[in-house]
Amino acid sequence: MGEDLELLKQRIPLLRYLRRHHWGGRPAAVRSEFVGLCPLHEDTRPSFYVNPRKNLFYCHGCGQGGDLIRFVQLSQHLSFRQSLAYLQEELAPSAQLLKHTAAFYQFELHRYPEGIQYLAQRGVHDAALIEELGIGYARGGNMRPHLQQLGYSLERLLELGLIRPQGQDAFCRRVIFPCRQQDRIVNLYGRSVTDAFPHRLLPRSKGGLFAWQSVRQFRNLILVEGLFDLAVLWQAGFRNTTCAIGTHLTPTQLAQLCENPDRCVYIAFDHDENQAGQRAADSLLQVLDQAGLKIRLVGLPAGHDPNSYFVAGASAQDFAHLLEEAPSL
Ligand SMILES: [Zn+2]
Repeated sequence: MGEDLELLKQRIPLLRYLRRHHWGGRPAAVRSEFVGLCPLHEDTRPSFYVNPRKNLFYCHGCGQGGDLIRFVQLSQHLSFRQSLAYLQEELAPSAQLLKHTAAFYQFELHRYPEGIQYLAQRGVHDAALIEELGIGYARGGNMRPHLQQLGYSLERLLELGLIRPQGQDAFCRRVIFPCRQQDRIVNLYGRSVTDAFPHRLLPRSKGGLFAWQSVRQFRNLILVEGLFDLAVLWQAGFRNTTCAIGTHLTPTQLAQLCENPDRCVYIAFDHDENQAGQRAADSLLQVLDQAGLKIRLVGLPAGHDPNSYFVAGASAQDFAHLLEEAPSL
């Protein structure tokens, strides 16, 4: 924690923060300090001093002084913890807010049976895996006060799409999977536990391939469409599975698959009669083939995706057999 604080203060020097917030201080006569009107009280004579080397401020008018975090506490009327969240947000807009949102939903999963019941129905029951993937549950209607208490404004929640323009939560009665890129959450995927609009992402990039940091080491990869496909495969021991969240790959996701030219990708998409889905999968295959990757098509029984295949009783051996039999493109 102490180290993180120091890092945070180094990454946002106090003087730069003040400048960005329109503080008009000028170099003072003494020891390379800066002086200007105090942003913390009604100041008429410049009495607010900043020492950029020590990264500290002091006001001779109101007697307040300290570091960047202290300044944020005083100027934004936030608690210590809220100030940290506020500053993290300055560094990486949205990442911190998404992290707080995901943590809230993760906590909520254990408060309402609905989420766990839905996961069980989709064949996901391993508690350690649920924890590892950071899966949560959005009941809807209770996230806003929690985030506002942490210092996020309603405008930020609207901007990020967590609250819809009409005022209701974007995620309501949904199982939530946080999507990470490196260690930062870049989006949230919500699967409805009812039949209404089954899939929902926040209106921003879905980022790279799911869990890329942990799967990129594998030479043989299994690529699936949905996060429930990924969850059951990880649960069955196929940790080399990643997910594009849909059949359309973003340029980032494509570049990730292609970063190792020796890679073999097992495509395990939904084998349904959905023409649009089939076309999307076909065009993806062409792109991957042109990129020089080895492609193998996993022949799931008609009407099945990996998730429904396992829910219907298939075992890890059954799936391993499908992989062995998968024809090359
Ligand atoms: Zn002052």
